Amino acid sequence: MVQVWKSIDMKFCSRCGHRLSQKLIEGRTRRVCESCGHVFYRQLKVGAGVIVERDGDILLMRRGAGVLAFPGTWCLPAGYCEHDEAPKQTAAREAKEETGLEVAIGDIFGIFFFDDDTRGNGIQIVYRATVIGGELSSDGTEVEALAYFCPEDLPQALAGGGHDQTIRAWKRSCLRE
Ligand SMILES: [Zn+2]
Repeated sequence: MVQVWKSIDMKFCSRCGHRLSQKLIEGRTRRVCESCGHVFYRQLKVGAGVIVERDGDILLMRRGAGVLAFPGTWCLPAGYCEHDEAPKQTAAREAKEETGLEVAIGDIFGIFFFDDDTRGNGIQIVYRATVIGGELSSDGTEVEALAYFCPEDLPQALAGGGHDQTIRAWKRSCLRE
């Protein structure tokens, strides 16, 4: 099976700087360094986000027009996990950075696979979270707006990257209750 190399493509070895070649390894074409022998395995990215509710409504943010992925669409407070960060920490950190709210992370709402983000395929781990402090505020650039929405009146333009799936799953969970 030949992999299609999409937007993110490594040309040089990050260990020794040698130009990379392609080789069939374990049934897939992979980037290999002929100089130091390193094989570069491409793996899923991991993100984490929060569902914050108020009186049955969900908190969403509108991404700024200048952001790389899904500009101008609505999504959950969320972001990629740093390499030394547990997903729960990521979720709380992103909530604080993007909404100004301090949250306590609760149970996992769901884990969503996405393959529609030009930055790479991944999974997003979504937690339910409770506000314990802070004040709702957006920076006005990366986060253009923050608002609570009821399940019957969600915005039309939802971000990909697992957000649209999560928000629709949340809506279904509300209508079942
Ligand atoms: Zn190398």
